[in-house]
This record gives sequence, C-alpha cells and structure tokens, in this order.
Amino acid sequence: MQIINPATEEIIMSLAQDTQASVEQKFNELKNTQPTWAEVPLAERITIVKKFADILERNIESLTAILTSEVGKPLQQSRNEINGARARIKWLSENAEKYLADETMFQDQSITEKISYEPLGVVCNISAWNYPYLVGVNVFVPALLAGNAVFYKPSECSTLTGLEIEKLLKQAGVPANVFHIAVGGREVGELLLNLPLDGYFFTGSYKTGKYIYEKVAPKMVPCQCELGGKDPLYVTDDIADVKAVAAGTADGAFYNNGQSCCAVERIYVHENVYDQYVEEFVKEVNLWKIGRPTEQGVYIGPLSRKEQIAFLENQVADALQKGATLAAGGRRMEGKGFYFEPTVLLDVNHSMSVMKDESFGPIIGILKVTNDEQAIQLMQDTEYGLTSSVYSQNQTRAESILKKINSGTGYWNCCDRVSAALPWSGRKHSGFGATLSHAGIRAFTKPKAFHLRG
Ligand code: NAD
Repeated sequence: MQIINPATEEIIMSLAQDTQASVEQKFNELKNTQPTWAEVPLAERITIVKKFADILERNIESLTAILTSEVGKPLQQSRNEINGARARIKWLSENAEKYLADETMFQDQSITEKISYEPLGVVCNISAWNYPYLVGVNVFVPALLAGNAVFYKPSECSTLTGLEIEKLLKQAGVPANVFHIAVGGREVGELLLNLPLDGYFFTGSYKTGKYIYEKVAPKMVPCQCELGGKDPLYVTDDIADVKAVAAGTADGAFYNNGQSCCAVERIYVHENVYDQYVEEFVKEVNLWKIGRPTEQGVYIGPLSRKEQIAFLENQVADALQKGATLAAGGRRMEGKGFYFEPTVLLDVNHSMSVMKDESFGPIIGILKVTNDEQAIQLMQDTEYGLTSSVYSQNQTRAESILKKINSGTGYWNCCDRVSAALPWSGRKHSGFGATLSHAGIRAFTKPKAFHLRG
C-alpha cells in the first residue's frame, strides 16, 4: 500500500497491508486479552487514557507534520484537530466514572435494583480519514475506558496517523493485545466484517455504512454508523452583522477544504439580506491563501483524495448546465497536488447535484429564499440529517425552525462544531447511534439488570 502526499503527489512510504492470517491472529489476541483489561480498575484505565492525551500534547508538532503529509490539511488545522482530540479525551475521561459506575435505580428493605455497564468485548472501529484523531477518539477512547479491546482500522488515507495512535496508546500504558490496528483499505475492512467481533463502530460514507450495517446485521451485535451529510444553513433577514455572518459561515463551509462531515454544504439566504451576504461571502473566499499546507497562513490546501476532483468538476458542470452562475472558483488547479479552487455557485436549485449530493470539498451553493417556510422546506429536502444551522438575532425564531428540521444537531448562530458533552448522531442517511456525551460512553457497554433480594 502506498501512502501519497496529496500536496505533492510524492510517495511518502510503502506499507504491507494486513492479511487474512494476520487479522485473525490479532483478533485472537484481542479476544484472549480483553477480559483482563476489563478487570483493570476503571481509575487505572482513566489514568492511561489521560496519559495518552499528555503524550499527544508533547508530540504535537511531529504528529501535526505526519497528519498534514498524508491528508493535506494545513498545519494549523492539523494542530487544531489534535488539540480538539485532547479536549474530547479530557471530557470523556472526566465523565467515565459517572456513566460507567453501577447505578442503583431502586432500593427498599427487601430489594435493590441496579444496572451495571459491562463492556461489549472486542469492538471494531472502522474509521474515516478526514479527522482521524477526532473520529478515532470518539470511538476507541470510550471503548477502552469501558473495558473493551479495540480492533481499529484507520482509513487507507490516514494510516500513518493510525500507526502513531497505536504506538502512543501503548506508550501511555494500554497493554499489548488490547488495541490492534488493521492496515489496509476496503479489502482489509471486509476481513474485519467477517470476524465475530462484539460491536461495529463505523465512520464514513453512507454507501459503505449501509453495506456494513447489512453485512453485520446477522451477527446480532451493536452497530453504529456515523455517516455523511448535506448540512443546510439558513441566514434569516434579522442578522445584525452581515459581514461577520458571511465570514463565519464561509469558514463553516470551507474549513478543512469542506471535508468535514458537518461542513455547511448548502446555504439559504433571506432575500432582504441576500445581495449583501453574497458580496461579503465572496470577498471572504477571495481573501484565503491557497497553497502548500506546510506554508504559513495557507487556509486551503489540497484535497485528500484525487478522485474527489473529478466529482467536484462534475458538480460544477451539472450546476452550470442547469442555470447556475459561478461567483468564485470552479476549476481544478494546474500543477502537482490535488487542488481545487474554492467555489461559490449562485442561482442554484434542487435539481442540481451540488444541492443534493454530499460534495465533501471546497464548493458551496447559495440559494435565495423569500421566507422561513420556504427555507424549512428546502432544508428538509435531503436524504441526510446530520446538522442544520440558523443565523438570526431571534432565538425563538431560530429554535422553532431548528425543531422542524430532522437532523441530529441544531446550531443557532454557529455551525460546523462538535462538543464532547453532546451526542454526535445522525438521522436518515447520516446514520444512527451516538458517539460523545453520556450516550457515546454507554454505547460501548451492555447494561445488565440486577435484582438483588437479600
Ligand atoms: P468511506 O466510506 O470511503 O471509508 C470509510 C472507511 O471504511 C475506510 O476505513 C475504508 O477503508 C472502509 N471501508 C470501505 N469499504 C469497506 C468495506 N466494504 N468493508 C469494510 N470497510 C470498508 O469514507 P471516507 O471517504 O473515509 O470518509 C468520508 C465520509 O465519511 C464522508 O461521507 C463523511 O461525511 C463521513 N464522515 C462522517 C462523520 C460523522 O461523524 N458523521 C465523520 C467523518 C466523516
């Protein structure tokens, strides 16, 4: 397997992929060791996980360089990701005791009723490349805290980071054979689906998630899918500072080159503020520095995967052919590296792929609406349901709109953000189940009911 730098197209490294035999051996090791790990006191598991966060902090510059070299995000965005992962680990480890300890639900003189949260066993974590630290930590940290062993398959596009994660978890004190990594792409993922694992936690596209869910179903074990989105954002006519809203929402659409599951993917703007909003939005986009992700001040680096360039070109061509106009960008960039210009499309409608299909790139369609009802109808017109966002000075107005949108997350005057304290969960084709929050800790456990009469 070759690891390619998306900024230069140079081969960084060649690695041997896992095989049927090596995957089976790792699985057996995990299976045999997991009960011992579950016996380790929770306080000790928490200490180990916190130490992992400290090691991330100590090594942040080298880890940043590795992440940027294989996924192409600007150095500062790689740093932000690792710091974001540390914040999540902090919340998860500080709250593990509260949500994993036995809970007495009822007690009188004759009976005690309690729940204990037992680990699932050996869980599988098949992960995406766009935020390997964040989406990885969402799964393997609470899984380890709850006493599970983890079979972790990083994306083939973020394998070097996956290998670092494995090394540093072991350095922090996770015993041998409690965490293993499977190196490879789809074929290696398939091998994991064939094993009798005790739970499957997937982050990736709807297409793969649907396949995995169907394949895992007969095993009758938990399966969670955190999938893609086509997240809408609505700018109402009562915003106070159009320039600030345009800048903030442009960042929500283009941060990490739009390669975020919760990136803003389509924008609806009330007609009363539309012209000014578009002008400020395009001004903002034209200010960004595009270039090598290792250069100071670069905001738009290369896309992580070459195939995405053709997909974006098709979305632009489809939109233009159906009557859209280009306000910025629209083309791949000349030279080495997987670069695509940040692209803004106006006069768009829902017959166009750019308003329906997840773009996962630096491209946005902005559509003018005449009232809240029309905005709600368009925001709801999607197969996905990850996040939705409303900008307004009026909280009641914003919340009443958000309540009508079938998505796992609602944002008022913000977008493209995740909190460790809140459940991260999709609806419809964006998936099901939750990571983060109390729900995302307990997701890695089986509740056992005890009726104790004594
Ligand atoms: P992908 O579906 O192509 O791959 C995800 C993982 O699945 C990779 O590790 C891949 O090797 C593996 N895989 C692929 N085919 C498989 C198979 N048949 N069996 C087993 N494993 C298989 O997705 P991607 O390109 O890595 O990630 C981008 C997608 O992930 C986008 O849709 C994005 O929105 C979504 N995503 C969602 C969240 C979330 O929290 N909801 C977070 C990050 C990314």
